[in-house]
Amino acid sequence: MRIRRTSRINLRQLILLLAVFSAALMLVGGMVGAYQVQRQQLMASTLDANEAFAAKLARTTSDLLLRAQSNLSYAATLMVRSGMMPAVQQAEVDRLRHLELGFNSVTVVDMQGVVQAAAPEALGLKGRQMDRVQWRDRLNERVPTISAPFVTVLGNLAIVIAQPLLDAEGRSLGRLSATMYLRADGGLQRMASEQYFRDGTYVYVVDAERRLLYHPEPARIGTVVAGNPVIEAVRKGRSGQMRLVNSQGVDMLAGYAHVAAADWGVVVQRPTDFALQGLSDLMLRVLRLAVWPALVLLAMLWLLSGWISRPLGELSRIVGDGYQEGMARRIAAVRCWYLEAQRLRGVLLAMSGQVHTRMGELHSAAHTDPLTGLGNRRGLEAALKALEALQRPFAMVELDIDFFKRVNDRYGHDVGDRVIVGLADLMRSQARQGDALFRLGGEEFLVVLPESDLAGAMGIAERLRAAMEDARMLGDEVVTLSAGVAVWAGGDVEQTLKAADQALYRAKQGGRNRVEAAP
Ligand code: GH3
Ligand code: MG
Ligand code: MG
Repeated sequence: MRIRRTSRINLRQLILLLAVFSAALMLVGGMVGAYQVQRQQLMASTLDANEAFAAKLARTTSDLLLRAQSNLSYAATLMVRSGMMPAVQQAEVDRLRHLELGFNSVTVVDMQGVVQAAAPEALGLKGRQMDRVQWRDRLNERVPTISAPFVTVLGNLAIVIAQPLLDAEGRSLGRLSATMYLRADGGLQRMASEQYFRDGTYVYVVDAERRLLYHPEPARIGTVVAGNPVIEAVRKGRSGQMRLVNSQGVDMLAGYAHVAAADWGVVVQRPTDFALQGLSDLMLRVLRLAVWPALVLLAMLWLLSGWISRPLGELSRIVGDGYQEGMARRIAAVRCWYLEAQRLRGVLLAMSGQVHTRMGELHSAAHTDPLTGLGNRRGLEAALKALEALQRPFAMVELDIDFFKRVNDRYGHDVGDRVIVGLADLMRSQARQGDALFRLGGEEFLVVLPESDLAGAMGIAERLRAAMEDARMLGDEVVTLSAGVAVWAGGDVEQTLKAADQALYRAKQGGRNRVEAAP
């Protein structure tokens, strides 16, 4: 009987586990690293693109305002040169109104605050007297201006671009003003709304007061946005890029630029989630591509682990089978292709040689009891040494004939000897190959059962006891025996012998003709 293996996992499984674990760790590490790098790159390129785009929009907006101013300046010069001729004034305001600059209304106001010319005429402004107090300041302004955005009577958000009308002596003759609605389909709006993309990118424009001049959601135009870091940066005249959480709680990648001509800021931004949307798809694609190489790797690992573990597996199987004839030949036949396995095979070969020698010694004459042909005390000592060296499980059964003195007394010494020889024959017929049988002296015997557990040894002892009872060696008189069984518990093998002896003593105490096991 072989002892139960204590470990359920073998070398090959260990190698496979280790290799698969490291491969998985590397794959996951690589994926996480690639993800991080890709993510940084995507965010950086989105930020760069948005910054460049904001700068371009800021330039275009500046250009638009400057073009508006230069057109107004040109018209103002024509009006002054004509001596403020009404027909010229009207022709110029009409011309300005129809330029591609998106002017909603154009007016000329004289120094008395009276409207001299206006377009479109439908507004009915011509001839109207403007608020004197309000206009005195404006009329005294001697430079071109761009007003802060304001809400008109009709509820439109507008800016006014104005130009003083100065004669050759530098006297003010009035003021030419053009209104640009920001909310209606004005030039600024048209330009910005072309830049609303399906990838989530959008543009907004703010003034120095944090008011939205343009936003893709029309309802938000004119509202003041507080606590937005981009708006704060752009208000200070800066241009650049930043990642932020906007006033709506959305993570954004923003580029921004300052419009110097009007002290406005242009912001181009894209939700971070949008920018990273493609990334998980990309990672999935990479994973799918990795499946085949991973399978090939797994197959290679399977073969390799078998190759590495085979020599050790074979050696351990041979040792696990216990000592037997031809063991050395089997060990020598194992193909060991690396150092540790070769060393182990060498040691096992040497050990099996020693055991073989010891076993041979057991059979020599010096170790044999002449009466029975079993091993004697010296043979047992040699066997114990071999067992000590092997450190393999075994069991012992110690036997003693019951009331043997009576047999001698009643039938004589020779008959007693025959009973002793008869028991030795019984033992030989019951033993397995590999078991070692000894006569310890008198009518005491020992059976050593290599690789046997308690149940196996108890079985043999019981069979021997029953066989002796049935043998009827003295005719009607029944001769019985008692037996003690012990199993090696590791360590000193002498202890097992003592335990068997104690078990035998208990069998005698318990009434004889019985088998007892050591606790
Ligand atoms: P029990 O074991 O049941 O306690 O009683 P027992 O009568 O068998 O007692 P014990 O085992 O101590 O007796 C051993 C006897 O065996 C003593 C001796 O007369 C006898 N004996 C010892 N060696 C030989 C031998 O070689 N031949 C024979 N015929 N008798 C022997
Ligand atoms: Mg006896
Ligand atoms: Mg005895």
